[in-house]
Amino acid sequence: MASKVGTKTRSQIREFDLIRTLQQRHGRKSPSVIRGIGDDAAVVTSEAGRWSVLTTDLLAEGIHFDLRTAMMADIGFRAAAANLSDIAAMGATPQYILVALAIPRTGTSDQVQQLYRGMMAACRPHHVQLIGGDTSASDCGWFISVTLVGMVPPRKALFRSGARNGDLLYVTGTIGDSLAGLMLLNERPPRKTQRPGTPTLSPRHQQFLIGRHLRPTARIAEGQWLSSDRLATSAIDISDGLSGDLRHICEESHVGAELDLGALPLSPACRAYAAARRLDPVALALTGGEDYELLFTLSPRHQAQSEQAAKTHRFRITCIGAIRPARHGVQAVGPDGKKRPLPITSYEHFR
Ligand code: ADP
Ligand code: MG
Repeated sequence: MASKVGTKTRSQIREFDLIRTLQQRHGRKSPSVIRGIGDDAAVVTSEAGRWSVLTTDLLAEGIHFDLRTAMMADIGFRAAAANLSDIAAMGATPQYILVALAIPRTGTSDQVQQLYRGMMAACRPHHVQLIGGDTSASDCGWFISVTLVGMVPPRKALFRSGARNGDLLYVTGTIGDSLAGLMLLNERPPRKTQRPGTPTLSPRHQQFLIGRHLRPTARIAEGQWLSSDRLATSAIDISDGLSGDLRHICEESHVGAELDLGALPLSPACRAYAAARRLDPVALALTGGEDYELLFTLSPRHQAQSEQAAKTHRFRITCIGAIRPARHGVQAVGPDGKKRPLPITSYEHFR
């Protein structure tokens, strides 16, 4: 349904102008797009037999982002990256994006353009095309809904439900960076008063962590590799935090797990931040969401082959534990070598 940004409100944005601009700037079509922006619905060709993978996310101002601290381009980038990451966790290839917007009366077309610039910056490396959306006015802040469409060869999709007792637990990249970056952003302007003896955080480390929070990388190539070579038995992307997302795999697969806290891959910047703020970096890694790394399981039979292939592809993967029977629950091996139940949201228990 056409919604009236221009006529219903005194917004500076006219819906039809907005759509025309979006079409011109971001609506370039590949041969697989029969109809993109500008008709009642988009039409795309699909390869016979492929499975379509679909995901959608809704971001609300004040709940998921705060315009006093975040820039529109970064919000757009993160919105697209979060959906791309869901596609990555399925082992699929992202293809098309649809964006539904509710724009407050105070919203400007410059803000909308910044938002799309950020979204398309996240999409471009994966050749994902904007093929449609919807636009409305809003009386209570911005709403940004992003839908991504992807595809995967039949029976190659990765699910949360495939982990088996004895499988090894792996994670891509490093974890905890995004939370450290968010905490850094929240403490701006930077602390001037450092206690004597407190390590300081270099500008390079600060930049890295803030970048990891504002512009996360969806692990598309890693997900495709894990699915196409049939290596992973299950996968999920880390959006709620390692502790919570591991639980999702365990629940869906009806298994337990053992997590080796000493093996968690932490970046030098995350370690430096934790040291400077007297925090436990493992707590950041366990509870910090929005790293958008992949958590996956594979059979020990495929361990050597997978680690060798990851090296060849230059994918960073780290073995951080193993799958156990359901009755084992979700346990963590702490610094003292003892096993304890993994706290759901807090690492306090292990301090
Ligand atoms: P309808 O009345 O059929 O919903 P619209 O006027 O809302 O038609 O949309 C016209 C075209 O513009 C459609 O192709 C739609 O997908 C696209 N579109 C509308 N809003 C957006 C948006 N915010 N981002 C991208 N495409 C949009
Ligand atoms: Mg519409």
